[in-house]
Amino acid sequence: MNEILEQDIKYLKGVGPKRAELLNKELNIFTFGDLLYYFPYKYIDRSKFYKINEVDTTLTFIQIRGKIISFRTEGPPKKKRLIAEFADDTGVIELVWFQGISWVVKNYKTDTEYIVFGRPAIYNRRMSVPHPEIETADKQDSVVNSKFQAQYNTTENLKNNYVNSKTIYKLIINLLININHKIEETLPGYLVKKLNLLTLEEALYNIHFPQNNDLLRKASYRLKFEELFFIQMNILKLKNSRKKAFKGFIFSKVGDYLNDFYREKLDFELTGAQKRVIREIRKDLGSGEQMNRLLQGDVGSGKTLVALMCMLIALDNGYQACLMAPTEILAGQHFETIRTFLKGLDINVQLLTGSIKKGKRDIIHAGLQSGELQILIGTHALLEDPVKFNNLGIVIIDEQHRFGVAQRARLWKKNEQPPHVLVMTATPIPRTLAMTLYGDLDVSVLDEMPPGRKPVKTVHYFDTKRLPMLGFLGKQIKEGRQVFIVYPLIKESEKMDYKDLEDGYESISRAFPPPGYLVVCVHGKMKTAEKNIAMRHFIEGRAHILIATTVVEVGVDIPNASVMVIESAERFGLSQLHQLRGRVGRGADQSYCILMSSHKLTNDAKKRIDIMTRTNDGFEIAEMDLKLRGPGDIEGTQQSGIPFDLKIANLARDGQLIQYARDIASRILEDDHALEKPENQVILQELKKASKGKPDWSVIS
Ligand code: ADP
Ligand code: MG
Repeated sequence: MNEILEQDIKYLKGVGPKRAELLNKELNIFTFGDLLYYFPYKYIDRSKFYKINEVDTTLTFIQIRGKIISFRTEGPPKKKRLIAEFADDTGVIELVWFQGISWVVKNYKTDTEYIVFGRPAIYNRRMSVPHPEIETADKQDSVVNSKFQAQYNTTENLKNNYVNSKTIYKLIINLLININHKIEETLPGYLVKKLNLLTLEEALYNIHFPQNNDLLRKASYRLKFEELFFIQMNILKLKNSRKKAFKGFIFSKVGDYLNDFYREKLDFELTGAQKRVIREIRKDLGSGEQMNRLLQGDVGSGKTLVALMCMLIALDNGYQACLMAPTEILAGQHFETIRTFLKGLDINVQLLTGSIKKGKRDIIHAGLQSGELQILIGTHALLEDPVKFNNLGIVIIDEQHRFGVAQRARLWKKNEQPPHVLVMTATPIPRTLAMTLYGDLDVSVLDEMPPGRKPVKTVHYFDTKRLPMLGFLGKQIKEGRQVFIVYPLIKESEKMDYKDLEDGYESISRAFPPPGYLVVCVHGKMKTAEKNIAMRHFIEGRAHILIATTVVEVGVDIPNASVMVIESAERFGLSQLHQLRGRVGRGADQSYCILMSSHKLTNDAKKRIDIMTRTNDGFEIAEMDLKLRGPGDIEGTQQSGIPFDLKIANLARDGQLIQYARDIASRILEDDHALEKPENQVILQELKKASKGKPDWSVIS
């Protein structure tokens, strides 16, 4: 074990208790190891020396070699600055200090050869280098022999306490002197050899003090690989151990429920994708292993129907099924849809949400326990303790993103033997991210829309074109269509957001006044009952316009709504925009998405709007979203239980390496599933170290 890496950072030369506290607080650096794994964010090439007559301000950094020929001070006493004339054989340049003057005068001498490094600037019409770094020419390169100077991120607070990039650089030098070849390998030797990786020690050394470009690239590759490899190892081990620990219910029969529904109730053909996905799921359900599957499909691709058919398979085999949705509105809608689909079939379906009254609730609880109640649809309320099933065979979770891993775990415990789990998400997730976020789940994709859908037309208007926009809404309403208008709601600016929404509601109500029009409004501050009344008006077609915060974001199905207006579109993320757009285009009519924005657009906002007006492809949008925002910001990653503050790898950029690391990890496990072979002990140790103090997700879907 690398025990030295566990040492408290305060014992490192140059740190001490006060700096240690700062490093703890600002950079999460507690041990020698934390510092060693605090990687640079960039490097400055210090192999290049300039001659003074070559220096101009287009260069961001310069390094020159020469001697100080004189010191002088300038300016009034309170704004005194120190100027040193620094010369080489081509000319003279000024080094300037505004602070720490006496220290500089005491420490630097004339007639000594120095290497000066800094950012050139014009000061008083003369070329100068303010606050340069200075080293004696013979001292440079003696401790670390690196052509590239590593740059480290620091914080305001650190800088105020004299800890800058250079300080960290020096601390790392001290650290490496301290460690002195005591870094042990964390990957099996055979792997390092076979994959042609640098050893850990070489990699760590070169990431901080690259000897050359090639070694820097190799160091970064080795460290990225290692990081991703252990993540994948963890996920795959978890998946394997779960498979061993739990058997799955075997749903071998296709019985009357599914057959009757399919023959008598379904008045359209399944899409090819739906057929394929149902085949994949049926294979899982008959395999004897517990299913843990993620179903991805764009909004409107027909996931609900797939879910229903899965539930019917459970019923055919004598089990109960449940479907959990993130909001009451959605749960209610699923309930209605499913009840309508099942009308005339003798199946007991109930809805359980927070607002179901106690009397009704008791009946539901009893029905679940006796087994009489076959399908339960609901919200988080399903997770509460009194909810006990007689024989729960399958759990379907809609819109995964809203649920944390821990909540999924609680559903598992509803049965002695865990039920099959199907997680549905309408947010397409880029493959590489899915491999990490949901790497323990098998993935099915609904990549085909039911026939007859016209792609939504998306346009962008600046706020100044509000009048023509309203005119367009009027026309659509005249044709019998309904309109969504959505406002952003962000915690930090909640107050102003509500103000915007209220102002918007007022001006829309003025433009579309009663009695000819009904405009309703739904937002998070309303009571559930009020919200439900407003939603009813809209769902049942009485209201022409629904103004809302993002509550309509997930799943609400209103085929007659053909226009989605998104206010302040620049404030929404790409996936969110795409989700919102998915609320329209569900019926046979041409639908529209109108993105309203101010003229002030950041580059990223422009890109988001461009992509939205260019494509309807959810996967393409998800990939772009990942590129623009990085994985840490993708909704859901926070609750995933997987560390997304990767130290060096990047889930958006290192897609190929993720796949590679996964392949290698899976090959090792195939050969040695419990990691028992002597040569794999080092992997096991690393996994144990990494899981120390973390919750155990191993029994969670
Ligand atoms: P999702 O949940 O993926 O957003 P839904 O399951 O709500 O999609 O389906 C959207 C609409 O399409 C529903 O009205 C549903 O009845 C209908 N639908 C689903 N599958 C088909 C199909 N194969 N052919 C025609 N319509 C379908
Ligand atoms: Mg849906």
